[in-house]
Amino acid sequence: MKIGVVGTGYVGLVSGACLSDFGHSVICFDKDKDKIKDLENGKIPIYEPGLEALVKKNVEANRLIFSTDLNSYIDELSVLFVAVDTPAVKLSGKANLDSFYAVIQEILKLSSNNMVIVIKSTVPVGTNKEILSKLLKNDKDLTFELVSNPEFLREGSAIDDFMRPDRVIVGTNSVYAKEVMEEIYKPLYLRDFPIVYTDPESAEMIKYASNAFLATKISFINEVASLCEKTGANVKEVAKGMGLDNRIGSKFLHAGPGYGGSCFPKDTLAFIKTGQMYGARQRIVETVISVNSEVKNRMVEKIDNIFNGHLDNKIICFFGITFKPNTDDIREAPSLTIIPEIQLKNAKIRIVDRKGEGQGKMIFKGSEWYSSPYEAASGADLVVILTEWNEFRALDLNRISSVMRTPIMADLRNVYSKSEVISNGFKDYISVGRIN
Ligand code: NAD
Repeated sequence: MKIGVVGTGYVGLVSGACLSDFGHSVICFDKDKDKIKDLENGKIPIYEPGLEALVKKNVEANRLIFSTDLNSYIDELSVLFVAVDTPAVKLSGKANLDSFYAVIQEILKLSSNNMVIVIKSTVPVGTNKEILSKLLKNDKDLTFELVSNPEFLREGSAIDDFMRPDRVIVGTNSVYAKEVMEEIYKPLYLRDFPIVYTDPESAEMIKYASNAFLATKISFINEVASLCEKTGANVKEVAKGMGLDNRIGSKFLHAGPGYGGSCFPKDTLAFIKTGQMYGARQRIVETVISVNSEVKNRMVEKIDNIFNGHLDNKIICFFGITFKPNTDDIREAPSLTIIPEIQLKNAKIRIVDRKGEGQGKMIFKGSEWYSSPYEAASGADLVVILTEWNEFRALDLNRISSVMRTPIMADLRNVYSKSEVISNGFKDYISVGRIN
């Protein structure tokens, strides 16, 4: 079975590489010529642990190739995954399906065979139905099958998530497409990973409801954190105590500077839009979004308060700008709100983030970039841990404090404890949801 994947981004490239590693023959397509050229030359356009080796292995085994030209290959393909971006429309928050529909239209124009189109992009509930109704209206003889197969991988552990998923969701009303999907995911089925077959609307809803729920957990603990700060409770202890209850679970209960990334912000927005459209408001998720935006502002206030509002010419080092560790992705990262706000207060910004630097340099203009946290901290007034990269989890605190002008740490990921930081020469330490 020959599989095509349109959209060779974080999801498409990982999916294509993993599907080829299952033994399938895969062609990854993208409209971005530079990206495809890089991939053909063995250069991976994104940072994702293990991806380079996996791509190399499958390219060498002749199971994985790259192309910009869907037209030349389409008749060879039995299955085509669509994994293009579906960002939020500015202001409205609806999912922008322009790229997605451009691809669907292109496929249908080119394809003549009985192809299975698998939608991996996150698309609003009802999109599968809409495609079918639009197409059936236009051409009653079309012979293609549609599957909703939303993706749940996390950047930073994407390969493991694809290869060892908590579940695979397959939404289709077609018996043939179900058989094709069974064949594609056989390596996972044989290892007992749960594969849930359902209708397309439920599959689409599972994706949004899952992301909305996870975002809710994060916003919930962030609100608890602000109450902890007022009452003297320690949010880390609280989250631990809560998380040990199996009904709650410990994941996504870490207080911090708010969720970001290419999924939660846009998917929660699109989810509430769908709710409004169908007259079934999703009030919890509406609140989650506003809490998340407040949390980022609260972090700015925390930093501001350290210097009693006088940030002029203070040298502030940010450790980490990506929305989470182990990725170069800074889409919707808390850093995008927090750093410009601090910059507006006339502070001098230094940044350490080796993987985020490529994209970050185009965004955080006027900042100084360092590869070593120790060099960045030299002469600085504050270090802010914004992304908990491993290298910031095991800092030589004494070395950092000894080179700073005023040794203060704002640990927005609760990596350290106050006693540890103070005993290593810092004169002040603030974190999230803990006063000690
Ligand atoms: P991305 O921006 O990294 O990649 C999208 C790719 O699609 C780009 O390379 C772009 O050039 C290409 N593209 C756009 N229009 C095209 C066209 N007409 N023809 C060919 N290529 C085209 O996006 P992503 O992060 O991989 O996300 C893809 C989808 O998967 C989104 O719907 C997203 O919500 C969903 N998703 C993402 C993640 C994640 O962690 N990134 C996880 C689960 C689901």
